[in-house]
Amino acid sequence: MKFIDEYRDAGLSKKLVARVEQLSTRPARLMEFCGGHTVAIMRNGIRQLLPPTVEMLSGPGCPVCVTANADIDKAIALARLPDIVITTFGDMMKVPGSYSSLQQARGEGADIRIVYSTQDALEIAKDNPQKSIIFIGIGFETTAPTIAASILHAEAEGMDNFYVLCLLKLCPPIMKTLLDLGELRLDGIVCPGHVSVIIGSQPYEFIPRDYSVACVVSGFEPLDILLAVAMLVEQIEEGKPRVEIAYRRGVKPEGNKKALELMNTAFEVDRADWRGIGMVPASGLKLRDKYARFDAGQAFTVTLEPVREAKGCICGDILRGVKTPADCRLFRKVCLPEHPVGPCMVSSEGACAAYYEYGADYG
Ligand code: SF4
Repeated sequence: MKFIDEYRDAGLSKKLVARVEQLSTRPARLMEFCGGHTVAIMRNGIRQLLPPTVEMLSGPGCPVCVTANADIDKAIALARLPDIVITTFGDMMKVPGSYSSLQQARGEGADIRIVYSTQDALEIAKDNPQKSIIFIGIGFETTAPTIAASILHAEAEGMDNFYVLCLLKLCPPIMKTLLDLGELRLDGIVCPGHVSVIIGSQPYEFIPRDYSVACVVSGFEPLDILLAVAMLVEQIEEGKPRVEIAYRRGVKPEGNKKALELMNTAFEVDRADWRGIGMVPASGLKLRDKYARFDAGQAFTVTLEPVREAKGCICGDILRGVKTPADCRLFRKVCLPEHPVGPCMVSSEGACAAYYEYGADYG
């Protein structure tokens, strides 16, 4: 197939659904790790197409949603320092921290600018040499290489006013954490497509080997996801869990060597604070010592109030897959896209936002 429309073909979708129906004889509980997959599944009504034996749960793969309140509070505190410009992806603006949001801080006078890439942030730094420009570096392995490239660029150009608040997180370690928590019995994981373009499929090998859970890397079109589900169900029915790729046009088993080199040049593995899960060793990235001068967390000191969680918000449980947005008593009543209580209602990849926008039965 050459064109994106071909991955949305209704006739082929029906054939794949029929294949899943034919294959599936026993309950199969699957988690789509990635928020992008949750949105695609909801938008295309994929859950409703699948037989009752196949259950799909949303996972923690939304970078905005998993950013801990403590880190949002830090970003807001940095924004309130004099001569600071915060640059961030737009999704972060409305995410509530313990007491405020970046949007609120901007309303109170902080200089916070929405950017579409790290390149934009570098340009702002070049145009404002008298200011310190901080990029809020959220995301997974997908965004880490471009953030790494921005740091190497700043180093090469001798820039002294560009910083990154590094909140990057790693997918395979948090998958391991979820499996170790044992809160859920999972039979299969729809592994993230964009992350796997960078890291490949090999880092998931421990999942079938150590946990007997099937893994298939999926793209984001309806046929990609249905194919991944069919492959997962086939593995589960055979009782032979393994790692497979249903997104061959984007993902190689070994990943993207250049992007991985960039990441490894600028970053080293560190602990990370995940919403709903807490501090997890070796699940994030920090700047290597050689680039520590670009680390906003080290370059600036802020005083933080105690961290508070929004009362009644169950984003943490939703991110661990143990609850759905429909289980939240604030969903669609108090918590709405215009007045989000938690990050899962703010982010374009958040489960609550996707259920609100597309959920027919909220089941
Ligand atoms: Fe949190 Fe709102 Fe989702 Fe409830 S509906 S879990 S309050 S984001």
